[in-house]
Amino acid sequence: MSAAKKKKTKIVKTIKIDVDKCNGCRACEVICSAFHAEPRYSSDNPARSRIRVIRDPLADIYVPVFAGEYTASECAGRNTYTIDGKEYEECAFCRASCPSRDVFKEPDSDLPLKCDLCESDPTLEEPMCVQWCLADALIFEEREEEVEEEEAVDEMDVGLEALANKHGWHKVADAVARMSKKA
Ligand code: SF4
Ligand code: SF4
Repeated sequence: MSAAKKKKTKIVKTIKIDVDKCNGCRACEVICSAFHAEPRYSSDNPARSRIRVIRDPLADIYVPVFAGEYTASECAGRNTYTIDGKEYEECAFCRASCPSRDVFKEPDSDLPLKCDLCESDPTLEEPMCVQWCLADALIFEEREEEVEEEEAVDEMDVGLEALANKHGWHKVADAVARMSKKA
């Protein structure tokens, strides 16, 4: 089956970070960990936060970083950045939960943590860290973007692959053969 690709509208959410405004207060870490505690607000522990602030007060360096993807291996090569005369540590801007450092890992289980933009029901007007950042270093933005809709055939492929992973290709093929006989 081939279908013409249609456009659909997607909401893209972004948190813009202004490192020049961050003062390293760590309120964002506190509220993030409290909001994601079970039950909600029952504890706060920045080690469980999905935003961490890289701090070097002597160099006036404060970099809020949101937890991103998990990676099983550390990268072999790293970069250092010098911006406006300040030298930032190698992993300063990296969002990965990776084996080379302790951030973005649940301290009890070592499971990776990832920012979910405070998805909740009812939906928040702004993520909690943005609400708690009194320095306006974190700015929340939502915009609409046009993207191409996935073709129906792709969705079917994905569904078949998921069934095959669960039951094996031969069982899926048998089931399809039986269904086509009934049709
Ligand atoms: S709350 Fe704002 S100013 Fe404070 S550490 Fe976080 S980003 Fe920086
Ligand atoms: S957006 Fe929500 S989940 Fe993400 S770092 Fe901020 S408080 Fe934590």
